[in-house]
Amino acid sequence: MLTVKDKTFVPFINQTTIESRIAELANQINQDYSGKEPFLVIVLNGAFMFGAELMKNLTIACRVTFIRVGSYQKTESTGVVREILGLTESLTGEDVILLEDIVDTGLTIQQVRQQIETHNPASLAIATLLFKPTALKTEVDLSYVGFEIEDQFVLGFGLDYDGFGRNTKEILVLEENHKEAV
Ligand code: 5GP
Repeated sequence: MLTVKDKTFVPFINQTTIESRIAELANQINQDYSGKEPFLVIVLNGAFMFGAELMKNLTIACRVTFIRVGSYQKTESTGVVREILGLTESLTGEDVILLEDIVDTGLTIQQVRQQIETHNPASLAIATLLFKPTALKTEVDLSYVGFEIEDQFVLGFGLDYDGFGRNTKEILVLEENHKEAV
């Protein structure tokens, strides 16, 4: 159990389950990208731990870079625009794998994907540690999914509540949301 500010979180996905599932995803990527040299793009802050754990299990040649998604900008024509910040490397002609912590409505990763596509990568895949299918509001093509979960608020293993709680080896769920563990 973990209390962050006014909220209580209870265990949801344990360390062994997380690590072995990420190793499975990495093995799949090792096979799918055999003979290629993918460029991993980790979306900060939440995906840093997922990215590190995944990379430890990759045996193919690969590189990594990090981006942030800027604060939301509202425009009358397009609604909300989330800008990519911190991308200094060229992704043109690269086999890019975007690494995200969690896909909820899918709007963030969809916009990141569209912006990365303007760099003309050779290919673009998305890997997410967690996915809430029932919360999805847009179509997203997710190539690698760690765990599909119910629409409930989780933290740990890189994910935060108000900036805190990223530093746990397991994933916890908000007690009042808790339905069933994976
Ligand atoms: P989306 O654009 O898919 O709705 O939102 C994705 C972002 O919302 C994630 O990268 C994450 O920062 C945040 N988010 C969505 N659901 C959760 C959750 O259950 N826990 C935490 N800590 N963050 C979440």
